[in-house]
Parts: sequence; structure tokens; C-alpha cells
Amino acid sequence: MADLVHHRVVVISTGDEIITGQLIDTNSAYIADGCVRAGILPVEHRSIPDELSALVDAFRAAASRAPLVIISGGLGPTDGDLTRQALAEVLSEELVIDGAARAAISDILVRRGRPMTARQERQALRPRSATCLPNQLGTAPGLHARASINGAAVDFFCLPGPPGELRPMFEREVEPRLRPPPGTSIITRLLHIVGVAEADCVSRLGDLTRRDGSPLVGITASGGILTVRIRCEGAFSREAANALVDQAESRARAELGDHLFASGDGPGARRLVQTLLGLLKESGQTLAVVESCTGGMLGQFITDIPGSSAAFLGGYQTYANTMKESLGVDPADLRTFGAVSPQVARGMAEAGLVRSGADWCLAVTGIAGPEGGTDTKPVGTVHIGLARRSAPTHTRRFLFTGDRQDVRARSCVSAMAMLYFALRHHPIAEPRLLWQVG
Ligand code: ATP
Ligand code: MG
Repeated sequence: MADLVHHRVVVISTGDEIITGQLIDTNSAYIADGCVRAGILPVEHRSIPDELSALVDAFRAAASRAPLVIISGGLGPTDGDLTRQALAEVLSEELVIDGAARAAISDILVRRGRPMTARQERQALRPRSATCLPNQLGTAPGLHARASINGAAVDFFCLPGPPGELRPMFEREVEPRLRPPPGTSIITRLLHIVGVAEADCVSRLGDLTRRDGSPLVGITASGGILTVRIRCEGAFSREAANALVDQAESRARAELGDHLFASGDGPGARRLVQTLLGLLKESGQTLAVVESCTGGMLGQFITDIPGSSAAFLGGYQTYANTMKESLGVDPADLRTFGAVSPQVARGMAEAGLVRSGADWCLAVTGIAGPEGGTDTKPVGTVHIGLARRSAPTHTRRFLFTGDRQDVRARSCVSAMAMLYFALRHHPIAEPRLLWQVG
């Protein structure tokens, strides 16, 4: 393959479930990310239904756009699995049984105590000139074929749909066959930011965010966290590209200070928990939570991180007022101010602190909707309390937008952001967070 350079890639997902919205196409994101890491630029994503002529057209069109086409799905034994037929048609080749692939499928079936049927055997078919890519975790092998389409050489890779099979196959079989243009690199780095509005972040970053800048810096906002994506691509060595990205990161750090809480891959909320846990562990402190409208979601965010037990003691789910009372919230506060009030958020946080013996306790009480809002306390009203040993408890009021799930997730992120800034020794009421109204 030394003669073919993969300077661009088209990524195709197949399947009626994707077209109809029943299934979210995560394979394409995974493949595109892998290509970018290798230094190959994705230029198009397409999703195609399980229809032979549509697949053939899409494969041909992709070949006219890029010398590398990576396809996921449609390699299984059902009648809807048409990827190998489509590839054979594009190559103008017949399908032949691959002996080694047939033996591998038969081995798996024997181990599962199943007979080899004609349908199963179909999975060992490949276009005559194609290579089967072994599947360590399922029956359907992948395919690789080199085609010449309108005089241009194109590499096609077909990978199985299930992500658990596709990912290891991509790593073992595709990555070593990728040929990015020599001397070019694409490096992407994510910086995660909280407690600054998007417009403010853009102005602080100044000319770093110019659309024609290099590296290219873009900002996306999601659930209260901003993610700055720094991308450097061009005729640089990896070291040079890395140095440019490092430089941009240092400038962003200088402008954003503690607002920038993590750099690197992963969803922002997850990175925020990791940072929090790191800060707690470093200082030998512990955390507990008391949850009403989030119903355990905050605890889940935290315990999603392996090793969280070093700093997280646990939580109380006090959904009903009786549960809040039995934890230690003053019944008079519940009667006088209602469950969604700063007084009850404070009571929950303080009761949780005492009961758990933790150094910090976060409490969340609010109206996630869609029902239950009033004029004075509309849906999305959430009070968050932060109690700590030997210091006054701090509460904030938020008015979150979005549906029930958004309100709950945004409550969790905001609670974590409050604790994050406290652990960074900011004045307890600072900075003001997105959606905060009091
Ligand atoms: P199988 O042998 O399991 O049928 P296949 O290669 O034929 O594999 P598909 O039939 O297209 O793949 O998809 C099988 C399953 O893989 C889907 O039901 C879905 O769970 C998952 N899957 C397929 N494509 C994607 C995708 N693009 N993103 C995420 N998951 C996917
Ligand atoms: Mg299938």
C-alpha cells in the first residue's frame, strides 16, 4: 500500500436503524477521530439505508471524494446485511468464499454449539481481490479492498456494526494500514472550561479564535461547560504541531485561569468530576451529597469515575419531604419555605454533612419538570447548597433551561462547579455560574 496516500477519508455508516433515528451512529465519530489522530482529514460522513443500489452509489461517490473510505455495518448474516455485495459490485468482482474466514466462523459456531448454516457461511464471502480482516469478538470478518475507480486508487475498509467488534478491528487491522501524507499532522486538544459565559470566553481568547488562525480554535458549549478545541493541521512534524498546540493552550490558560479545569479528551462533565476528585484527594478531604430533584444522578456522575471512593463517601436520596425530615431537615423550613428553597437546600447540605461526617456536602433541590412549576418557582428552579466544616453554608439559586433531563444534568454540573471553585480557594460566592439567578 506504500503507493497510496490517504490524505482524506470519507466515513460511511449503514443501516435502516441509523436512517430512521432508532440508533445513534457512534461508529462514524470513533472512526473519524481515529483518522484525525493518524493525520488523515475526514471530509464527509454519510449514512445509507440497507439498500444495495444506495450503498453502491454511496461507495462510488465516496471514492470520488477521497482515497480512503471506511464503512461500518451490514456485514452480518441477515438479508439486510448488504455491504459485501455492494463492495463486490463497486469492484466489479464476484464474491468467493474465504477459506480462513470460513474456518474462523466455523470455530466460533462449534464453540457456541451451533451448526454452520448457509446463512452463516455467507459471512465468509469476500470480493475476489479483497482481504478478510479477522474479527476477534464476533463472527463477521471485516474487509479491505483496493479499487481503481475512474483511474484513482481507493482503499475501502468495511467493519462490523457492533462497536465492541468494530473498535478492536479498527485498531488491529485498519490503523496499521493507514497511510497519512508524510510530514503532515493533525493534532486536536480539548480544553474544558466552567464559570465563564461563551461570549466572555471568546473575548478573553481574543485573536486565538480567529477563523483563519492556526492553530484553529473553536468553542462549543454543552450543559454549562465550554469546550475549546484547538486543532493544528498542516505540513508540520508531530512535534512542531504539538508545540503550536501547547502554545495556544498556555495562552488560553493565562486568559482563563482556574476556569480552565482540564485539558484532554472526554466529556466535560466527566472531566470536571475527575478534577474535583483529584483536588479532594490531594487535600485529603471527602465529599457527600444529598439529592432531591437529581435523584442520585450527582452520585452517579461521581461514582462513574474509577477510584472515586477515595474521596466520595456517598449520598442521600431525599425525594419526599419525609425523607428530608428524617435526614435532619427542619420540618418548619419545609412548611414555611417549601422543599425548593434556599433554606431547605441549606438544611439538606448541613444534615448530610453531619450524618456523613464528610468535609463537604452538596445538596440539590429543585423542580425538574415538566409538571410542578408555579409562578414564583417555575420549572427549572433549583437551589444548590454547599456545606463545609466550620464555615457557613453557601446556597445559590438557578433557573435552568431545557427538559427534565437537561435540568437534572445541569444541576449536577453546577453543583460540581460550585465545589470546584471552593476547592480552588475562590471566594465562596464566586464566580457566578451560567443559569444562576441568585
Ligand atoms: P451483525 O453481524 O451484528 O449483524 P453487522 O456488521 O451486520 O453486524 P449491523 O447489522 O449494521 O452490523 O449492525 C449491528 C448492530 O451494531 C446494530 O444493531 C447496532 O447495535 C450496532 N451498530 C451498527 N452500526 C452502528 C453505528 N454506526 N454506530 C453505533 N452502533 C452501530
Ligand atoms: Mg447485521
